[in-house]
Amino acid sequence: MENINKMLLEASKSIGISLSKEQENSFLLYLKLLQNKNKTTNIVANSEDKEIIHKHFIDSIAIPPVLHTLFSEDKQNSLLDIGTGGGFPGIPLKIAYPSLRLILMEATNKKVEFVKEVVRQLSLDNISITWGRAEEFGQQVQYREKYDMVVARALAELSVLVELAIPFLKKQGLFIAYKGPNIDEELAMAGKAIITLGGEVQDIIESNITGIRRTFVIIKKVAETPVKYPRRPGIPQKRPILEQKE
Ligand code: SAH
Repeated sequence: MENINKMLLEASKSIGISLSKEQENSFLLYLKLLQNKNKTTNIVANSEDKEIIHKHFIDSIAIPPVLHTLFSEDKQNSLLDIGTGGGFPGIPLKIAYPSLRLILMEATNKKVEFVKEVVRQLSLDNISITWGRAEEFGQQVQYREKYDMVVARALAELSVLVELAIPFLKKQGLFIAYKGPNIDEELAMAGKAIITLGGEVQDIIESNITGIRRTFVIIKKVAETPVKYPRRPGIPQKRPILEQKE
């Protein structure tokens, strides 16, 4: 146990976050819940301590420094995590930045049930969890254009992702996509979709933390999203908004 604590504290220190005892305990309990659940249901590919701490916890909270004020106490910004799976990156972000108003969206009920259990056991407040597809919620008034920030990790190609994410943003809100290395081509392919949805690329930031190479694509919503987007479930993936096809 001593080792796990140390690993967590050192890794978070390396990204400039010093965890309180309460935050440390939340991460450790979350780790245990993930490992228990993973015995019967596949939530993470590899459930060793080190893997979960680095690849999931630290990777989730290692957002670029330019974003730090938006996640901080005085802003109380709302954050939507689409396709959260086992809670990533939403739950680690909420533990690290407790004043966020968080909503988690997930299509698979089993994962929703797990995440609800995590939220209950960690006694996290100001979180709601919705079961369903982003394409459907994105057309509902109570969700559309309501959030200051949207995040997504390992959900889809950027050209598809922006159709799922941008409709939820308020004007001037930010979509923060957790992407891998070498995304030039993916980014070029998404150009038309980004503009069509009312977005504009604001920043592209690469990082390499605990051996994980990431590119954060930060897109600002500068115009209202046309009402026809998002299209019906499955359509954004099947017919992404691409230069040559429309
Ligand atoms: N973000 C998590 C999980 C990635 S796997 C992580 O980084 O570990 C992608 C998840 O998105 C799956 O759990 C899948 O059920 C969910 N998902 C896929 N398409 C979705 C959609 N259109 N709306 C909501 N959730 C979706």
